Amino acid sequence: MSRRRIAVIGGGASGCALAWALTRSRDAAALDVVLLHDEPQLGGHSHTVPVTVDGVQVGVDIGVQYVTPTAYPNVFSMLDLPELSSRVHAEPVRPVHFAASFTEDINWGAFPSYREGPLFARMAAPEVRAQARELGGDLAAAWRRRVGGRSAFTMKLSEYLDHKPHLRDGDFVRFAFFPILSVFNGYTAWDLLEGTLADLWPLFARFPFVDGPLVHFEQPGQGWHRFEGGAQRWIEAMAALARERGADLRPASPVQRVRPRPGGRTEVVWEEEGAVRSEEFDDVVFTVDMQGVEELLAHEEDPLWERLSGFVGTQHFSTLPGVCIIHTDAAVLSPHTVHLQHEDVQFTGTHAWRPDAENPYGLPYDLHSTYATHIQGHGVPGVPPGLYVTMYAEAQDAFWPDPAKVLHRKEWRHGRWLSSYFAAAKARLHQVQGLGGLWFAGNPATFDAEEGALLSAIGLAGRMGVGFDLPWGGLRGRPHGAILRRHFIDGIMFPSSWTRPAA
Ligand SMILES: Cc1cc2nc3c(=O)[nH]c(=O)nc-3n(C[C@H](O)[C@H](O)[C@H](O)COP(=O)(O)OP(=O)(O)OC[C@H]3O[C@@H](n4cnc5c(N)ncnc54)[C@H](O)[C@@H]3O)c2cc1C
Repeated sequence: MSRRRIAVIGGGASGCALAWALTRSRDAAALDVVLLHDEPQLGGHSHTVPVTVDGVQVGVDIGVQYVTPTAYPNVFSMLDLPELSSRVHAEPVRPVHFAASFTEDINWGAFPSYREGPLFARMAAPEVRAQARELGGDLAAAWRRRVGGRSAFTMKLSEYLDHKPHLRDGDFVRFAFFPILSVFNGYTAWDLLEGTLADLWPLFARFPFVDGPLVHFEQPGQGWHRFEGGAQRWIEAMAALARERGADLRPASPVQRVRPRPGGRTEVVWEEEGAVRSEEFDDVVFTVDMQGVEELLAHEEDPLWERLSGFVGTQHFSTLPGVCIIHTDAAVLSPHTVHLQHEDVQFTGTHAWRPDAENPYGLPYDLHSTYATHIQGHGVPGVPPGLYVTMYAEAQDAFWPDPAKVLHRKEWRHGRWLSSYFAAAKARLHQVQGLGGLWFAGNPATFDAEEGALLSAIGLAGRMGVGFDLPWGGLRGRPHGAILRRHFIDGIMFPSSWTRPAA
């Protein structure tokens, strides 16, 4: 019997988790798994860059910064498996100090030392702290709160704030909540009120058996972890296991084209060592974003693309542009608070202060030109002080670090962390999962985080008919891991109505 050939396009968290899952399935011996990745190193958004500062070499995460057992239980269950635990660890870090800085008197931090003195006077005012308590209370208890006669849980943030104009127009939402949302939602994204309270609830709720809450408006967030040595270690561990079990993982092999062939197989064309290669596969899994899917698949007058284009592509799942920079330039931090530097993450609005301009949400600052800086020397073990990772969205008019102090720069596209983005498109994607041997993983299927990547991979491996049994679950798995699997895999990716669509 001929072997089933599966191509996985993209070697980030989703692609490497899928290669790991396929090669530990019951049918692994009958599979040829080939993973094609464009860059020289695997990792994608989980990329760790080696940099030398003051003679010390450290691995700095330019994308993924934090993971947490509270919101990513399946990632942590996987890390507990002996084959992973001997290769990669996620370590708890100090409680995360979030802060935002704008002007000489508009500065905020979710910790006591950022509520003292004139710099913080306006955000420490009793009415602003009352707004923080009301919003924080509603978010933490969203699943049982009713607002305007409706369940708060399913409300969009825009709807919730329409019911609470004193919060929407108050200083707390404008100078603390929007910054926090920007950091979580995709680095100063401007469509932040599209998310629901349910998206944010896991950040603010206090769950039994895990540290938390992850975000609190008065205290540092508890329960955050980082991969020891950087997020790429997790990717490399999964990739190494997949290779040991026979998968063929090929970095520096950008795929150029994917097209159906007569007889039901799919041709994948890629470039490798200056030559163009082409092979046929039974299944092709896309872990690239939807712009990538479109670039590889959209061929005029292809009947398969005509069917797919109602479900996949950028018209259904748009991406955000992003720029991340590793640097040593403290000038990117707000000049008002730069001498303090207690925070782990600073949202900087100082250089985007434009009260006379027309800004999104009527803010006195231009959200497009704000950015977030992860101050590595504070929370990351082993990293010297004075090393920063600054994350921008489109940010044409933003303040940038001095080029002489830039150690690494990366431009990329990314999705949204909040899972209700593209909810309608995600709920329809199952209608084309498996059509013509094509499958779609990654954040369009779940949400844009390491947990979302892993869920999409184990979800696909479970439905591709290769005999994949989840190696955690039952009493050994974390109970909320099962809830997330049920919601994302059985509810959204592959609801009970799913049957593989006929070509
Ligand atoms: C700046 C930033 C910070 C983040 N911080 C966090 C965080 O703190 N915690 C968290 O959990 N998540 C975070 N995320 C989200 C997380 O990184 C992603 O959800 C996850 O890593 C996505 O993995 P993926 O494999 O689905 O996609 P990707 O990592 O994007 O991998 C897909 C890969 O496919 C490759 N590719 C594209 N086109 C081709 C082609 N034609 N041929 C071959 N390969 C191709 C790309 O190079 C890419 O590497 C962050 C993301 C970004 C951008």
